[in-house]
Amino acid sequence: MIKVFENFDFTRVGQMQSLLEAHDIRTFVRNQYGSSVMGEVPFVEVVPQLFVLEDRDVARALELLKLDLPRAAEGEDWVCPECGVDVDANFNRCWKCGVGRTEG
Ligand SMILES: [Zn+2]
Repeated sequence: MIKVFENFDFTRVGQMQSLLEAHDIRTFVRNQYGSSVMGEVPFVEVVPQLFVLEDRDVARALELLKLDLPRAAEGEDWVCPECGVDVDANFNRCWKCGVGRTEG
């Protein structure tokens, strides 16, 4: 199990998890309820962390995370103008070809 992402904003960690799960990468989020144990463990231990279960998926997971880095976008799913795939509203770049989202 390899940690690929961590962020104090659990929503963001969840978005990353959704992205990886959408690509059939098995993931695990640790410290999802970290605030309940605050005070018992070092603070760094309660940062939500996203793990990839299979070592062989790690490189691909990191590539996906680097490609996307969602910015809490709102709205509806969109269609990539370049390759035509459906892209989740949370993501500002096409997960397939990397083309950026175009508004309107
Ligand atoms: Zn595309």
